[in-house]
Amino acid sequence: MAQRNTWQRDRVREALAAAPGFVSAQSLYATLRDDNTGIGLATVYRTLSGLAAKGDADSLQSPEGESLYRACISPGHHHHLICRSCGLAVEIAADDVEEWAHRTAAQHGFSEAEHIVDIFGLCGACAQARASERVAQ
Ligand SMILES: [Zn+2]
Ligand SMILES: [Zn+2]
Ligand SMILES: [Zn+2]
Repeated sequence: MAQRNTWQRDRVREALAAAPGFVSAQSLYATLRDDNTGIGLATVYRTLSGLAAKGDADSLQSPEGESLYRACISPGHHHHLICRSCGLAVEIAADDVEEWAHRTAAQHGFSEAEHIVDIFGLCGACAQARASERVAQ
């Protein structure tokens, strides 16, 4: 790819790092557009999937099937708790999941087993906001 696009990739990477949790390409694109960067949606998609392929970003599928990305803080294998309302993500170690996955794979004669376990829910702040909305209605 042409070198002149490097600054665009850097801007996408910066915007991803500034996001509070998992974000979609669409919402990152909207942020960059508000900053008048002139970066196209296709560049955002391409950059995000490139970062994910290199392991510089986490990617996952939302329950709605949308790809979400995040500049990951933790190196190596870990899990996430993700708020499906605001995208807040908490990185978690899950020793009992590791043990369970290893044991289950071994029981079935599997080796080199991998797994992806992410928990989706409502974070405390969103749950509270939702509860007070309900009271107001
Ligand atoms: Zn992560
Ligand atoms: Zn939330
Ligand atoms: Zn694990």
